Amino acid sequence: MSSSETIAFDPESVPDSLGHFGEFGGSYVPETLVTPLAELSAAYAEASADPEFQAELQRELREFAGRPTPLYFAKRLTEYLGGAQIYLKREDLLHTGAHKVNNVVGQLLLAKRMGKTRIIAETGAGQHGVATAAGCARFGLQCVIYMGEEDMRRQALNVYRMRLHGAEVRGVTAGQRTLKDAVNEAMRDWVADSRNTHYVLGSALGAHPYPMMVRDFHRVIGREARQQILERTGRLPDELAACVGGGSNAIGFFFEFLRDAEVRLVGVEAGGRRIHPGDHAARFSGGRLGVLQGSKTWLLQNEDGQIEKTHSVSAGLDYAAVGPEHAYYRSLGRIDFASASDDECLSAFQLLSHREGIIPALESSHGLAYGVRRAPEMSKDQILCINLSGRGDKDVQEAARVLEAGRESSTSE
Ligand SMILES: *Cc1c(COP(=O)(O)O)cnc(C)c1O
Repeated sequence: MSSSETIAFDPESVPDSLGHFGEFGGSYVPETLVTPLAELSAAYAEASADPEFQAELQRELREFAGRPTPLYFAKRLTEYLGGAQIYLKREDLLHTGAHKVNNVVGQLLLAKRMGKTRIIAETGAGQHGVATAAGCARFGLQCVIYMGEEDMRRQALNVYRMRLHGAEVRGVTAGQRTLKDAVNEAMRDWVADSRNTHYVLGSALGAHPYPMMVRDFHRVIGREARQQILERTGRLPDELAACVGGGSNAIGFFFEFLRDAEVRLVGVEAGGRRIHPGDHAARFSGGRLGVLQGSKTWLLQNEDGQIEKTHSVSAGLDYAAVGPEHAYYRSLGRIDFASASDDECLSAFQLLSHREGIIPALESSHGLAYGVRRAPEMSKDQILCINLSGRGDKDVQEAARVLEAGRESSTSE
């Protein structure tokens, strides 16, 4: 396709005022959350049109978060794979270690503007909880983080980091004691005290206006990347890839390229051990349309509509639903989806560490794993950009454990 071809959709026109991305999205919430969500929508619309709010946001992104992040040419990885030139958008260099801080800073400034004094958030692996706790310390806001007790055990270091920033971490004992249960608990808290409390949702998920608002706060990723690749190479990339949990880093990276029909966009889900119920988190491979935690989208559920267990070596991709905007662009054929298995992810994790001196987060390693498969199929004059959503310091222990276990089982055979 050539860039002069017109595209039959306008990315700025979705969602509609009720949060619909085509048939996806919306706002499926209890009566008690209708008013707080409407107030949030109104406050967000007003703030995003206010140059003063935008200027403060830019300043915080620069001074607190560390933007802009570089676009990095992965020379030795490119040579090793022998195909497309690979560029990495370095969100791993941001404060607190991942893209999450872009959204946190935006929502906390909005909460302050709305006169809220208390912040709540959910967290799975702890990355969103750490970013939120750090932001609350920065702005002097009270902070409560909900986290499944199973996740607290697995991510003890992040629990300590949150507490160091002054946050209260509340363990959730319901259900599987992981992310989905923490979201339920945070929603319950918000219902009880929405007057003083803002709920900082951590991905492009949930009821309107969250998927739109979280996307907008991450659009800076793609805005910078587009300008950087044009400055560096004089042209647009051929393909972009990013890992997709809820989908916030991916939609933020892709958004400014949606209108460029010649740029292929690929979201990479967690293929886990294999695509079989309970063994993965690839909603577009094993899922169906349904409603979870406020939004209509693709989910992993059984015949009776019960949410299935999910698995991924990376905690940040281990969630049963995907953001509704991704479901929408998939239905239009604008974003393609692939998955990478745990094993492919761990190989990419080692490869980047070894060949570029960069330890990627296990989440980001899914996007890289796709790149490892894809780059050799492309020609040397083509460009593949991958969003490196976070750094892997948090994952080193887990990777060592899993890789060590793998070695033992293969030598004992
Ligand atoms: C949380 C996280 C993700 C997954 O969340 P998205 O909303 O899909 O971006 C991906 N990468 C890193 C490093 C994360 O911390």
